[in-house]
Amino acid sequence: LLEVKNLTCGYQNKPVFTQVNLSLYRGQLSGLVGPSGSGKSTLMKAILGLIHPWAGEIWFRGKRLQPGTSPPRVGYVPQVETVDWNFPVTAEEVVMMGRYQKQRMLPWASRGDRTAARELLNRVGVAHIARQPIGELSGGQQQRVFLARALVGEPEIVLLDEPTSSSDLQVQHELLHLLADLNQQGLTILLSTHDLNSVATHLPWVVCFNHGLICQGQPLDIFTPANLERTFGAQMVVF
Ligand code: ATP
Ligand code: MG
Repeated sequence: LLEVKNLTCGYQNKPVFTQVNLSLYRGQLSGLVGPSGSGKSTLMKAILGLIHPWAGEIWFRGKRLQPGTSPPRVGYVPQVETVDWNFPVTAEEVVMMGRYQKQRMLPWASRGDRTAARELLNRVGVAHIARQPIGELSGGQQQRVFLARALVGEPEIVLLDEPTSSSDLQVQHELLHLLADLNQQGLTILLSTHDLNSVATHLPWVVCFNHGLICQGQPLDIFTPANLERTFGAQMVVF
């Protein structure tokens, strides 16, 4: 469905990763793991067309995307630290934004849009905060609002940047189950996380990243001491 070919990205004149090749197959549910600062968010932003790659190509459904443009029908749940709201907009309105193309504005939101937004907020378990300003929600609540926003546009692919990092264990568990359900219905999902145990128990595929692709495969095959040391630069064990 989506192919990254020889992708090189960096900021100013410092490269973050070079020559990355990665394929996301239709219906794949995969985790992206790697140390802090290794380039996971940068890779996602490059796939989304939010940053301009230095070199390389991104292909979607067999067609090359123009550099810096986003593939159609791709949803994004940003890493929560990157969200800074300085104007009042409610959770429901944030979700409704996901129904519109960039050039269209909220005043045209229809009853159908509102219903869809409510349904999605309910699905991700935060229907009760629909009318609260997004800036007054906790990090975990904001992330679920962004997941609802990503889903309301009926995407084929969703990229989630550390969607479980700000939630308690129960919510993490619910979220991973919800993602597995959505994946069963055909959604292709890539999520980054620091929680290797939940990768091992909930995700069928994992990509290890550290300024480039280290290895990928089924978690139980991939999480060997040697691979973990190559990825994280430390000796560790995943249970
Ligand atoms: P984390 O697990 O902490 O989220 P990450 O793997 O997502 O880390 P990135 O956010 O992709 O890492 O950052 C990779 C490198 O790029 C880091 O060295 C970071 O300092 C740098 N970087 C990220 N964003 C910018 C930016 N906007 N301008 C300059 N450098 C940046
Ligand atoms: Mg990140």
